[in-house]
Amino acid sequence: MNQATSKAELRHQLIAARRALAPDIKAAADARIIASLLSWLQANHIRVLGAYLAIAGEPDLSALYEALPAHGITVAMPVVLEREQPLVFVQWRPGDVLTKDASGTLAPSARGEYVQPDAVLAPCIGYTDQNLRLGFGGGYFDRTLAQSPRPRAVGIAYAFAKVSFEAEAHDIPLDVILTD
Ligand code: ADP
Ligand code: MG
Repeated sequence: MNQATSKAELRHQLIAARRALAPDIKAAADARIIASLLSWLQANHIRVLGAYLAIAGEPDLSALYEALPAHGITVAMPVVLEREQPLVFVQWRPGDVLTKDASGTLAPSARGEYVQPDAVLAPCIGYTDQNLRLGFGGGYFDRTLAQSPRPRAVGIAYAFAKVSFEAEAHDIPLDVILTD
């Protein structure tokens, strides 16, 4: 992708490219991300993982979430309790009921039973060689990672989505980007 294109234009281009992936190519790419992520989780002794449920053509890692409890890893999902605030994480098991959170995204219902993940997955529309994340523009991961202590942050992206954009003061680099 072009150098120094605006975040908004990059989001538009990259989401379109992601949605154009053929289903079999996407499934194979998702399986490679899952294999790489499982190795990373084990190598880093992660016990509680903040995950995500795929939307808008994001890598779908749900097959991994089903397998993680057998590896001793608890899965939690992000919940927006209040707009423009950091994310909170609620334990989740496959099949658990989802409801719309304050941002309108499907999430487990938050009953105050929050967990503190060791690592969180941050699905990236795009990413840079400085490990900066291009998200949907809500700034939720930036706010979450601005807290102390902060979880390790693992960007999840398709490799083709490597781009260049001007970092803003609030953009917080992720610890690692895993791709297909
Ligand atoms: P994304 O990271 O989702 O791609 P942006 O980096 O463009 O989105 O951020 C979206 C908005 O979130 C920005 O207008 C920014 O002001 C706000 N934001 C990000 N982090 C913080 C923070 N720590 N405190 C307050 N506002 C923040
Ligand atoms: Mg940002």
